Amino acid sequence: KTYLTIDQVKELFLYMGQKVIESKPLLTSIDSAIGDGDHGIGMEVGFKKAAEILQNNNLTTVNSIFLETGKAMISNMGGASGILFGTLFVASVKDKPIIHKLNLELLASFIQSGLEGVKARGKAELGDKTMIDALEPAVKALHQALEENEDLINALKKASEKAQDGMENTKNLIAKFGRAKSLGERAIGHQDAGATTISIMFEAIYTFVNE
Ligand code: ADP
Ligand code: MG
Ligand code: MG
Repeated sequence: KTYLTIDQVKELFLYMGQKVIESKPLLTSIDSAIGDGDHGIGMEVGFKKAAEILQNNNLTTVNSIFLETGKAMISNMGGASGILFGTLFVASVKDKPIIHKLNLELLASFIQSGLEGVKARGKAELGDKTMIDALEPAVKALHQALEENEDLINALKKASEKAQDGMENTKNLIAKFGRAKSLGERAIGHQDAGATTISIMFEAIYTFVNE
């Protein structure tokens, strides 16, 4: 595959949501260790609402799939992650040309804008023990793959690996944002919940496109 059609993007979002929802117990236990335990619940609410909207509306552009998913998260999830994961999808398509096929170049450009949106909104940078620690390395991997003329599958494989490495690395970090911030050194050894969700999302994207 070199690109995904609208229907495939829709299926991809449903699949990604399903994978995150299946990980609810893991996300709950991670957020319970260094947060308030609601991250898995929030992500489930967001992706369920998004799935309803994707299934019940005839969305005819790739842009609207991103936008409606983000809006569903912002209006239904609550918590820091409602705004931040919602912003990831909304900012991905802000001021972008309308597209009907999603290739590697467009995906990299969308998620780059999404990353910038999350950073502008939440002020966290790489190393602050947040979702950024998985997201930024994954976005970088997409751009690098693009420069090296890799195909979509290999690009997604690398992005997924980098997101996972970034997630693992959050165990070594002290939190500068979110609820874990107050724990200081005690957060060391625990991975970040939002970074875990990002890693699950990228793994799902790779798996979906690879099948
Ligand atoms: P809450 O902390 O409100 O309970 P969640 O538990 O759903 O929200 O989400 C927590 C996750 O949100 C964290 O694990 C972290 O990845 C992410 N997060 C929190 N604050 C920020 C921020 N300022 N920038 C980026 N991500 C953040
Ligand atoms: Mg929480
Ligand atoms: Mg909360």
